[in-house]
Amino acid sequence: MAKVITIVNQKGGVGKTTTAVNLGAYLNKYGRTVLLIDLDPQANATSGVGVDHKNIGQSIYHTLLSLMPIKDIIKETQHSGYHVAPATQELAGARVELVDVGEREYRLKKAIEGVRQDYQYIIIDCPPSLDLLTVNGLVASDEVLITIQSEYYALEGLGQLLGTIDLVKEHLKPDLKVMGGVITMFDKRNKLSQQVVDELQKHFPHKIFSSIIPRNIRLTESPSYGQTILVYDPNSKGALAYEGLAREILNLENIPIAEINQSKQLDDFVV
Ligand code: ATP
Ligand code: MG
Repeated sequence: MAKVITIVNQKGGVGKTTTAVNLGAYLNKYGRTVLLIDLDPQANATSGVGVDHKNIGQSIYHTLLSLMPIKDIIKETQHSGYHVAPATQELAGARVELVDVGEREYRLKKAIEGVRQDYQYIIIDCPPSLDLLTVNGLVASDEVLITIQSEYYALEGLGQLLGTIDLVKEHLKPDLKVMGGVITMFDKRNKLSQQVVDELQKHFPHKIFSSIIPRNIRLTESPSYGQTILVYDPNSKGALAYEGLAREILNLENIPIAEINQSKQLDDFVV
């Protein structure tokens, strides 16, 4: 049964999609089957794994609104065993259209039931808001991963986000867990970046992953080629950081590291 991880932060541009796409790639590198679900009408996760969202017919919109089985919308990526349930801009309409449907907060959770057996990880990329789409993501998930950009306003909004997660726990999904926070776009030359990390370590009430994602130009470039960082530049600092994050998450499974080390070779995963 898949572990479902939702990547969330209502702030825009804090590395949610970059984390979703590349964490998925590295979990897959370590032999796990992964489904990435794009819940953002910007469809950046979809294009980030090389699927052209302008040329697809059915998307997560149809799953949420017309209950189309998620199996029927899934697309393959460049990595074998790493699939995507794509979004298109149409999804923006779902925010309004979902308001009137029954059990509107549970649409994604129900959809996922049909594929939970097929994957070891399902990663959900949320839009930058605390709307019905994000609530669907939270309700569908077992654990929440919060990306936190190491910049001056990083802590602003985190209280509101944790409050929303508590509300979802209280009313919709009692066993929802916060997996922790991932610090993104860390710039070691910038004194402020280190201060933000120190502040977070003091005040953030959950685990902060020790793999800190640096600001790295290769991570900025890779989406424009529709490639994960694992394909685009696996030796870059950004790639190594996401590999470290994936290993930390795999370690939570309590699987001996030796087994984790038997990762797929490059030839195995690039189709
Ligand atoms: P949105 O809220 O709009 O969905 P997001 O939180 O998903 O944004 P991303 O799209 O992952 O954030 O990142 C925002 C921008 O910053 C993108 O152009 C991305 O390529 C770039 N970026 C993300 N992480 C890094 C990094 N560690 N180093 C350099 N650039 C990064
Ligand atoms: Mg995004």
